[in-house]
Amino acid sequence: MGYPAIVSDLPSHDVISWPDLPAAQQPQWPDAAHLEQVSAALATVPPLVFAGECDQLVDQLGAVARGEAFVLMGGDCAETFAANTANSIRARLKTVLQMAVVLTYGSRMPVVKIGRMAGQYFKPRSKPNETHGEVTLPSYFGDGVNDQPFEAQARRLDPQRLLSAYHASSAALNLVRAFTQGGYADLHQVHAWNQDFVRESQAGIRFERLAREIDNALAFMKACGADPEEFRRVDFYAGHEALVLDYERPLVRIDSRTGNPYSVSGHFLWVGERTRDLDSAHVQFASLIHNPIGVKLGPTATPEDAVELAQALNPERIPGRLTFITRMGAGKIAETLPPIVEKVEADGHPVVWVCDPMHGNTRETSGGVKTRQFEDVTAEVHGFFEVHRTLGTHPGGLHIELTGDDVTECLGGIDGPQEQDLPYRYETACDPRLNRVQSLELAFEVAQRLEELR
Ligand code: PEP
Ligand code: MN
Repeated sequence: MGYPAIVSDLPSHDVISWPDLPAAQQPQWPDAAHLEQVSAALATVPPLVFAGECDQLVDQLGAVARGEAFVLMGGDCAETFAANTANSIRARLKTVLQMAVVLTYGSRMPVVKIGRMAGQYFKPRSKPNETHGEVTLPSYFGDGVNDQPFEAQARRLDPQRLLSAYHASSAALNLVRAFTQGGYADLHQVHAWNQDFVRESQAGIRFERLAREIDNALAFMKACGADPEEFRRVDFYAGHEALVLDYERPLVRIDSRTGNPYSVSGHFLWVGERTRDLDSAHVQFASLIHNPIGVKLGPTATPEDAVELAQALNPERIPGRLTFITRMGAGKIAETLPPIVEKVEADGHPVVWVCDPMHGNTRETSGGVKTRQFEDVTAEVHGFFEVHRTLGTHPGGLHIELTGDDVTECLGGIDGPQEQDLPYRYETACDPRLNRVQSLELAFEVAQRLEELR
């Protein structure tokens, strides 16, 4: 036939019966019949992503595993329906693309780009309920489950939101595909934005030399006759935490080329720190789909945990299939990361090593505001490079919570917010994100480090 048969319409539940394994962090829906209706609808909607795209991402991450490429993952801690606007999506995409150009130059390697986007609507919480005074309500579990305001109606767990999350993701991905294929992401344009950053911010001035070198490199490529079309399009993938199984399971489809199950909810799915038990439903889910997958590893993860996860999730040892996203904390990484990397490498598992310098560095101000210090973020990244340099392994990439806007959620950086600035634009639905300038400052700083390591 003349058209590519990419994913069949066969809903996964016709093929996969999910065993009843313990699943932490699942919404306790009040209305089972409504959930069933929504599941049935999710099982027949068109795929957001395609099996062939997921395979291509495995290949590109395979290059990272081999030490030939770098990966950048970035976006909101929690996407919201209200912020799923063209402006907000464009700003996030722009920031990730700007960071990627700088990192490409610093590493002299291709940078694989994955947004924490188009599906990041579900949040694990440390407590299922929240109490203020006399009132106890369910915690906020992400816009895919309930709503933020501390009011009974808003906090009600509503399965209809699973479908809303699918539709919001579909709209976001449509825009991302248009931007990244339609010339908006042209390399010269992205570089021009970086030049603006260098010219216009205190944080940027420090990186004038690097920006000039990138300029020269681009001019050189042009002079050598590089095809301008090559620079106009970029591959950009969508990733999110596979947390709420009532969303993820119905969005598995069977690839008609191979008969293999794929999640069509996003290209890259990861299992979070709170749900990565070897015998959990989440790890079992990740083991069955053929997408590239990640697992977060925090400071309590042991080398044995990591090896067992690698064995369960990538028994065929396909490079690019499995990414470990380590989030140890700046003060702990030098001690906790080396034994894990050593054991996994000694056992011959081809994993991608990514640093999430956000989740181990969250703290509360004396006024009770959740924040992160930019200098802790950079310290963990530097610690990550140091560990991999010492062990001779490849520091494969970064996983960052960021926004393209000038929010005041994380403290520090050259001209970043101070504690008294936090209320000014504290807009996150969950964890504090680096703002646009802090994100670019981080990228330039990492690029400088990568140059030193070369
Ligand atoms: C997250 O990425 O937003 C998150 C909850 O991370 P972790 O699972 O590492 O705590
Ligand atoms: Mn987070």
